[in-house]
Amino acid sequence: MDNLSYSVRGNVAVLTLNNPPVNGLGFRLRSDLLSAFDRAQNDPQVRALVLYGGDTVFSGGADVREFGSPKASMEPNLPSVIRALESSAKPVVAAIAGNCLGGGLELALGCHWRVAKADASLGLPEVKLGLLPGAGGTQRLPRAIGLEPALNMIVSGEAQSASTFAATALVDVVVDGELLPQALAFAEKLIADARPLRRLRDLKVDAPAAEAYLQFARNSVRAGAGNLPAPLRCVDAVAASVSTPFEEGLRIERAAFIELMNTPESRALRHVFAAERAAGKVDGLPADTPLREVRRIGVIGAGTMGGGIAMSFANAAYPVVLLEASQAALDKGLATIRKNYLHTLSKGKISQEQVDQRLALIQPTLSYQDLRGADLIIEAVFENMEVKQPVFEMLDKVAKAGAILASNTSTLDLNRIAAFTKRPHDVIGLHFFSPANVMRLLEVVRGDKTAPDALATAMQLSKRIKKVAVVSGVCDGFIGNRMLARYGAAANDLLNLGAMPQQVDRALEQFGLAMGIFRVGDLAGLDIGWAIRKRRAAERPGEDLPTIADRICEAGRFGQKTGAGWYRYEPGRRDPLPDPAVERIIEQWRKEHGYTPRMIGDAEIVERCIYALVNEGARILEDGIAQRASDIDVVYLNGYGFPRYRGGPMRYADEVGLPNVVRALRRIATESPADAAYWAPAPLLLRLAEEGKSFA
Ligand code: NAD
Repeated sequence: MDNLSYSVRGNVAVLTLNNPPVNGLGFRLRSDLLSAFDRAQNDPQVRALVLYGGDTVFSGGADVREFGSPKASMEPNLPSVIRALESSAKPVVAAIAGNCLGGGLELALGCHWRVAKADASLGLPEVKLGLLPGAGGTQRLPRAIGLEPALNMIVSGEAQSASTFAATALVDVVVDGELLPQALAFAEKLIADARPLRRLRDLKVDAPAAEAYLQFARNSVRAGAGNLPAPLRCVDAVAASVSTPFEEGLRIERAAFIELMNTPESRALRHVFAAERAAGKVDGLPADTPLREVRRIGVIGAGTMGGGIAMSFANAAYPVVLLEASQAALDKGLATIRKNYLHTLSKGKISQEQVDQRLALIQPTLSYQDLRGADLIIEAVFENMEVKQPVFEMLDKVAKAGAILASNTSTLDLNRIAAFTKRPHDVIGLHFFSPANVMRLLEVVRGDKTAPDALATAMQLSKRIKKVAVVSGVCDGFIGNRMLARYGAAANDLLNLGAMPQQVDRALEQFGLAMGIFRVGDLAGLDIGWAIRKRRAAERPGEDLPTIADRICEAGRFGQKTGAGWYRYEPGRRDPLPDPAVERIIEQWRKEHGYTPRMIGDAEIVERCIYALVNEGARILEDGIAQRASDIDVVYLNGYGFPRYRGGPMRYADEVGLPNVVRALRRIATESPADAAYWAPAPLLLRLAEEGKSFA
């Protein structure tokens, strides 16, 4: 037995799961479990069994290494193993510490009793993968804790600590201290008392006013689930635990599970899960690349980004030296940081003590000398090479040997920035997204000379500060903003052709994006893009022509901060109101540029905007800027509000079928001759479509 160890203590057999890191319930472990179970059944000395996962984890559920392979459901599958445990004539006790999630919790629910450490984490997160618990969880959990709490847990997918369930049949004994001896003592007592077996399947669900409650639950789940099928199917399955016999409930659950497995939404969500794990792996960087020690952080610039970056590190208990150009800017930056923490405090998400600790970790300064002790220094000054150059020249002088020097630039050439120092191998891009203390995405930009250990250290550090890091090569805009530029151009073009901003936004939001592009622009500030376009126009004359967006800026409309942008805003409010003044600007522009507006459908809006992303994504892959298509998806999911259930733009293209994407792009190219070069399908996209392949 490779994945399990078996021992007998007194009259109790201990089956210890041993499939690191999280005791994933793969084929090997499931087989071992059954073998050990049979052995215990046949051993006359054994009068009870304890199922134990160790002191730090019970089981995280399915083995992700088997995802999508036949092994995942090969017999003995999880329902078979659970059935065996549950029908055991000898009592079976689950001893639970750490994570007990998904299939892990379903396994524990198949045992007759459960002893858990108070802080063990119990949950059924399947809904987050567009699924429902498929091994009896929807039938047994309601029998253990009642209809309403079970439904909440299954529909939200959120885990809770074992202590929450102290008074229920889910956790019979909550323990502190060492788990196994207490679970063994509990098993011995069961034997001594000759307690009859208690199987959850035999219990009745505690469900007062079930009909009315389920009706209410269906309505609110339907309203909250949007385009997702899984949450409602969870309700259906849990409802069956009240209305049908146990075996029939299991059958209904299984059928729904198989149905959900085959939905595009679940395929996409499982893709996201795998994509986020894959993003941490860097091509050409061995897993044993040495890491640099990072204990102290320096941040330069306490503006929008620098403040958020400093908070991200302070939140993870790193001391941060925050440097500004003037006392006034420093005071302003610190005041914003304090205000942000107090806001989080007022929402009850952190304690006053945490606020004090985190603020104390951020040491303000005006002197570069204070950066001498920093192991990683992140520059977040104005987006201007003339401002960044002296900063890096100064860092080259003061930073200690081996310190990583990072820039948060969004668009500037990292290789040029690295060349301002005599240690370009120590220079890297760390492109945070606004607000930096909230957004999960971090683009880690690998310069031509960035050293492998600097890159590996940055990737590891990103996990410490709870970010999802994606490696990008050097190009204007890196992965995310380079694609965003094409997406923005496509949206602007729709205005030329006949759509209004509010229609474009509505179509994109119905597709599932968190916010339409024009609303995003108003939130971020239209002046930023305007400045970038002006710089690009100067660098590459004739390439980027003026757009309606320039005209909006010329009218002094920079978005929410000026009370007007693509929309207008009532004082103190953030809801975007369509503005006739904007419509007049757009109509005037169309007249001047010879556009005859036509009707544009929502489907065309989505097609143009999303395929613009896909086509540029394909070019980014071809150029070697992104390592893999799924990395591009991770960028869009975590930095740009792309809906997770669509898996990201590249995954969406795969789902639509690449030949269909190619045909649509060709059609758009003929409809928009001025931009035909941009709309022409990228060579990689063409090749994959012709070969019948996908980005995956
Ligand atoms: P900001 O204007 O809000 O802040 C810049 C800060 O840098 C100011 O407080 C300024 O006083 C300070 N500063 C300027 N020169 C300095 C110097 N020589 N030494 C020390 N401090 C100096 O700008 P921001 O939005 O925080 O952007 C900073 C960087 O982050 C830019 O490179 C930008 O492209 C990038 N970025 C911005 C965003 C965003 O959404 N705002 C997102 C990702 C990356």
